[in-house]
Amino acid sequence: MKRLSSSFFQSLCRYPSNQMLFPCACLQGCARGQLDMEGALTARDRVGIQDFVLLDAHTSETAFLDNLKKRFSENLIYTYIGTLLVSVNPYKELDIYSKKQMDIYMGVNFFELPPHIFALADNAYHTMLAEANNHFILISGESGAGKTEASKKILQYYAVSCPSTTLLDNVRDRMLLSNPVLEAFGNSKTLKNDNSSRFGKYMDIQFDIQGDAVGGHILGYLLEKSRVVHQNHGERNFHIFYQLVKGGEEDLLHQLGLESNCQHYSYLVQGECANVASINDKNDWKTVRNALSVIDFDERDIQDLLGVIASVLHLGNVQFEPDSKGYATLNNSAELLWVSTVSLLLMCAFFFINIQVLSPFTVDHAIYARDALAKAIYGRTFTWLVNKINDSMENKDSSRKTVIGLLDIYGFEVFYVNSFEQFCINYCNEKLQQLFIQLTLKSEQEEYEAENIGWEPVQFFNNKIICDLVEEKHRGIISVLDEECLRPGEATDLTFLERLEEKLDSHPHFVTHKLADKKTRKTLERGNFRLLHYAGEVTYCVVGFLSKNNDLLYRNIKDVMRQSKNTIVRECFASKESDGRRRPETVASQFKSSLLGLTDILMSKEPWYVRCLKSNESQQPGQFDDVLVRHQVKYLGLMEHLRVRRAGFAYRCRYDVFLQRYKPLCPATWPYWRGVAAEGVEVLVQHLGYLPDEYKMGRTKIFIRHPRTLFATEDAFEVC
Ligand code: ADP
Ligand code: MG
Repeated sequence: MKRLSSSFFQSLCRYPSNQMLFPCACLQGCARGQLDMEGALTARDRVGIQDFVLLDAHTSETAFLDNLKKRFSENLIYTYIGTLLVSVNPYKELDIYSKKQMDIYMGVNFFELPPHIFALADNAYHTMLAEANNHFILISGESGAGKTEASKKILQYYAVSCPSTTLLDNVRDRMLLSNPVLEAFGNSKTLKNDNSSRFGKYMDIQFDIQGDAVGGHILGYLLEKSRVVHQNHGERNFHIFYQLVKGGEEDLLHQLGLESNCQHYSYLVQGECANVASINDKNDWKTVRNALSVIDFDERDIQDLLGVIASVLHLGNVQFEPDSKGYATLNNSAELLWVSTVSLLLMCAFFFINIQVLSPFTVDHAIYARDALAKAIYGRTFTWLVNKINDSMENKDSSRKTVIGLLDIYGFEVFYVNSFEQFCINYCNEKLQQLFIQLTLKSEQEEYEAENIGWEPVQFFNNKIICDLVEEKHRGIISVLDEECLRPGEATDLTFLERLEEKLDSHPHFVTHKLADKKTRKTLERGNFRLLHYAGEVTYCVVGFLSKNNDLLYRNIKDVMRQSKNTIVRECFASKESDGRRRPETVASQFKSSLLGLTDILMSKEPWYVRCLKSNESQQPGQFDDVLVRHQVKYLGLMEHLRVRRAGFAYRCRYDVFLQRYKPLCPATWPYWRGVAAEGVEVLVQHLGYLPDEYKMGRTKIFIRHPRTLFATEDAFEVC
């Protein structure tokens, strides 16, 4: 728990002592609008209050929202709660991310300038250098709130503003260019966001002791690969497919056997929106193609990679029809010929032809096998891509490095129909909310309690109960799902639902159609269950839960893939996989373990937070939907965060450390205090004239309410 006590309060005061005067003075200065930084801070920049902590003591939710809205209307999308940055998506380009702006924020303390994502990035960076420890920036908010954009701005800031050498420029370019490539393969248009991340991304940016960005490493989390074979109306497949088909050069398309028309491919037309006004696939294709060359991909890699994309498209067009016995036969093997002609999945054609002879499938089975193969090839290629990017950003030098981790993971999602994918995504968001609570609200209160400091508990909703509902051993939803997956042939999505109903009927956050009326006064159709998430209610349709969780591939299809001429495909299927004796881990269980791993990674680092808010549902520039924003402010716990931030003490320090530093300021403690440290501190602060309201004596630490008290002491210390 040691690191937890190093909360956001202390981060106010964790600059080296010679800088300590800055934050407080500037915090007040800015709030009153007294600063004028070479045009950086104009009258417009001061609209509203730029740190919520400075709003009236009894800030209501309405005052909070008014402040956000007032600032938003002036394009001031950032506001602080202490060192937490709140960002409201403007849905329009703002001229606040230029190199000039970066220069203004460089090396300047947090509260000296208007709130900005660069200020947070810069302060994380300087604190990391000063303390020589690891940090992470948790960017959260629902789908479309601006997380990915925020993480890109931070990365750009480090790439542009950190010291550089020619050698390192290489690494930096790769770090920056990894973004368009990963977005092409891992993002797509959904109903919530035209560029929605369909995978989770955690990226460590490594710095050497001089502060140079010297390397990077990415961890990818659960790609929503079902999108490869199925898209809901109004949604698209992953961007790369459209980029290649629309932007690919004639020769290339010919070589891959592709037509330059998306309508030709059944994997691209289901959502009926291959063309999207906000997306320029042709231009994006050029960016991605160029980026691939910079990130160490040679021509062979690129050929293989695009070959995979083409193969998936061809595979999607393979159709089956029943023969006289009802078994599947191929009705357009020409498509598969293409697959083999591009010499990528040569054997795949044989597989589908052979199945007719060896173990006949029904048409449904054959379609299932086809789609499973397409998903597997794409999913594994995505993992290959992340590894390849990691190789190119790797820093092989073994000298000591510190990191800033950037977490940009899919946001909370509610659609009209929600399936296994939304279940995983929303579970992930519950885990991140839990982490946030542990790191801020809960740890803060726990420390006060442990120190016996009087504390008016701030009521907040602890979502641990929902995390447990999903992940608890034996009775959590994932456990129940896994158990059902162990009963092939017997279990179905509906028996899974029945098991859930048996085990979880009484749970306050789980609703089935039987209890829907009582618990939420809203009916629920059979075949669905509803979870009362911290961010709102979501109704999940159980159809597909079992097969998506099992994610099984026919075994001989893997054997076939291992013989592919495409190096990527061969590599992707070459790993020592389950030999059939041990069951492979299910998708949900794998995801659960990877999230536990992520939590461990984050818990060992110092946190910084960006909370992104979606301004409106229709992605319109400058529109501020009060109801929508209020809802997010509520469930993200921003008011609670503000109350804790206010109710608390800005600074705390162990008695012995405090006494050791400040003992020269009092004749009774200088040069030695021979008694108990706590008593020495009491004598010292009495001598310094601390008022009773300004500090509290805990069990092991002194707590100081306002930074200004400490700054005055520090000031006196500097003079003496
Ligand atoms: P998320 O990752 O939270 O789902 P994104 O970061 O992809 O959301 O943002 C969705 C869209 O909102 C972006 O494609 C962009 O059009 C717009 N947007 C987000 N943040 C900003 C910003 N700071 N300035 C301008 N537009 C933004
Ligand atoms: Mg995103």
